[in-house]
Amino acid sequence: MLENTSLLNFNTFHIDEEAQFFSKFSTKEELIDLITLAKEKSLPIKVLGGGSNILLTRKVEAIVLKNELKGIELVEENDDEVKIKFCAGENWHDCVLWSIKNNYGGIENLALIPGTIGAAPIQNIGAYGVELKDVFFELEALEIDSLKIKKFKHDECDFEYRSSVFKTTMKDKFIILNVVLRLTKHHSLHLNYGNINDILIEKNISSPTIQDVANAVIEIRKSKLPNPDEIGNAGSFFKNAVVSKIVFNKIYDEYKNVPHFILNDNEVKIPTAWLVEQCGWKGFREKDFGVHAKQALVLVNYNKSSGNDIFLLSAKIIESVKTKFSIELEREVNIW
Ligand code: FAD
Ligand code: NAP
Repeated sequence: MLENTSLLNFNTFHIDEEAQFFSKFSTKEELIDLITLAKEKSLPIKVLGGGSNILLTRKVEAIVLKNELKGIELVEENDDEVKIKFCAGENWHDCVLWSIKNNYGGIENLALIPGTIGAAPIQNIGAYGVELKDVFFELEALEIDSLKIKKFKHDECDFEYRSSVFKTTMKDKFIILNVVLRLTKHHSLHLNYGNINDILIEKNISSPTIQDVANAVIEIRKSKLPNPDEIGNAGSFFKNAVVSKIVFNKIYDEYKNVPHFILNDNEVKIPTAWLVEQCGWKGFREKDFGVHAKQALVLVNYNKSSGNDIFLLSAKIIESVKTKFSIELEREVNIW
């Protein structure tokens, strides 16, 4: 176990903050030993995957356990679908590519999302009209208090937009060990989100495969999102705004061009990127931190920014959106 070690290379924001203690684990037994040790030292436990959804704002006074549980296993198969168990330390995007290679469909729209399998249920990752919950079957997680392994079926996870029971009532209580996904052998494609369809038409692809869809998603993402290897970021910093029709109508009266998606009779989604842009933040930069010039939802670290500076910037953005639109933005990124 390492003591007072920098997490610089373990978070995609590239923030240089230390962990009081740090260790990797690649087996369940190692994990249990580390938790036992942490309990003896009365240390809080933080589990880390790819570090692509956290912002480090101070030294982490805890034992940080980096998940390296590896393995992929076919657990069930019939004529229509497969159930695949992915160990939690597997890289999400590699698992998407593995699934496509085996002609298993369902997660091609979620290509190029950074991070691990184990973190995917935490915020019910989603992109281009597909969410983890659409393919999720069950997961196994180790309860930190009891050291018992518990199975969570779909209805026990309370999946919602960028949220689950693991981000709310069970936050920091379980460490996810593996996730079983239900993937298709005969695919129904989701092409009507963003400009996936336009790209396929542009490429003269009339009968797209799951590989074609993934390629289109990868192309769009590469053109719009900063690559964390080049510019530190954690993807969308805020959740999209979901507001009542009454609130929406007030905004619409003044801004006829407000982009929006009607979710149901009462709720309308307004892309937060638009709200942030209207407040003048798109492309903002101060010292080494700022708001990405192509995507106002993404806060960035250009070089050696502190996490606290980025956190304070997010607070200013929240304040200005509240003042201008009376909408309270919610952070999506986990603040450590
Ligand atoms: P980490 O950042 O390591 O951890 C995130 C949280 O989950 C922490 O609180 C951590 O303690 C907890 N956690 C991690 N692993 C476990 C485990 N095994 N058990 C229990 N708790 C755990 N997200 C989307 O939803 N859609 C996108 O399209 C998307 N695009 C992105 C694009 C970029 C460029 C970036 C940088 C991020 C993007 N994200 C997106 C956010 C991020 O990739 C996802 O949230 C991802 O699932 C985080 O995985 P991770 O392993 O890096 O988690
Ligand atoms: P985009 O395609 O330009 O879309 C802008 C916004 O409009 C998104 O917030 C999206 O909502 C919404 N939207 C677009 N088409 C929609 C439809 N048909 N129905 C309902 N809502 C629709 O967004 P982008 O920034 O380039 O991102 C593309 C996708 O990748 C989005 O799904 C986004 O969530 C995801 N992404 C997520 C992260 C992250 O860190 N969480 C980072 C990058 C990209 P949704 O966001 O609800 O889909």
